[in-house]
Amino acid sequence: MTRYPPDLENWRRAARIAAEARELGARRAVPGASMRELADLIEESIRAAGAQPAFPANLSRNVEAAHFTPAVGDTLTLAEGDLLKVDVGAHVDGAVADTATTVEVGGGRRFENLRLAAREGVEAGIRVVQAGVDVNEIGRAVESVIHARGLKPIRDLCGHSIERYVLHAGKSIPNVTGMSHERLEEGEVIAIEPFATNGAGSIENGEFGNIQRFRRDPGPTEPVLQALYRRFQTLPFSARWATSDADTAALKRGRRHLQSYPVFVERGGGFVAQAEHTVLVTADGAEVLTRLP
Ligand code: MN
Ligand code: MN
Repeated sequence: MTRYPPDLENWRRAARIAAEARELGARRAVPGASMRELADLIEESIRAAGAQPAFPANLSRNVEAAHFTPAVGDTLTLAEGDLLKVDVGAHVDGAVADTATTVEVGGGRRFENLRLAAREGVEAGIRVVQAGVDVNEIGRAVESVIHARGLKPIRDLCGHSIERYVLHAGKSIPNVTGMSHERLEEGEVIAIEPFATNGAGSIENGEFGNIQRFRRDPGPTEPVLQALYRRFQTLPFSARWATSDADTAALKRGRRHLQSYPVFVERGGGFVAQAEHTVLVTADGAEVLTRLP
């Protein structure tokens, strides 16, 4: 049995748009750049290309591994030498692509080994992909190339299967062995996303990273909130996208319907690099949807 999405062209289109937004974000991540403006620029480029952001542009720096996006009034700027993860999502009618790269702001080479480890990790994982493969083999491949650079993969961050409007569907794609033993299916869409670190190899929760999502439809008693739900479904979003006072007030009142995400911080205070591609599992390999030609 295969499970190719019937709207495969939407998945390919979302992926190309996400990949272009990722590269735009990486190019514009220069010393002194406003993080708020960089996030807005990435998200606007996705909308201008005819898709929607599938989640806020994640711009986590240094020991932050994931789940930071600038807040509404953020004044943070990038500094020379920041190790910045540009993690970007786009969707076309619920067909989601998720992709990331890591840049050293200012173009230095202090973190070259970390960046290469993450990039080689995602490529090693992709080489293993084909229908029927145990996801543990992806974890083994990722772990092996990151160890070869004298670094650790972050064991408690995983890739994931993706379904329509569901960024983290049922299946985890590990970055180490011994985590899970599920098999890939032909036609499935998965994100492979290794994180390499010179720290402890695991994460802990930091502060609120300005990202939240609806747990469920809040129902008709809160029409403003329900309109926001119709817009975002259960995909993660940013308060930067809900700019009217009515929206802001509804989000405050409706907190019980919302899940908020803490920033994930490396437990040992290590620096973190990430690379991520969204991949279509085929009978004999993978179509890397977020790879630009
Ligand atoms: Mn992901
Ligand atoms: Mn991602």
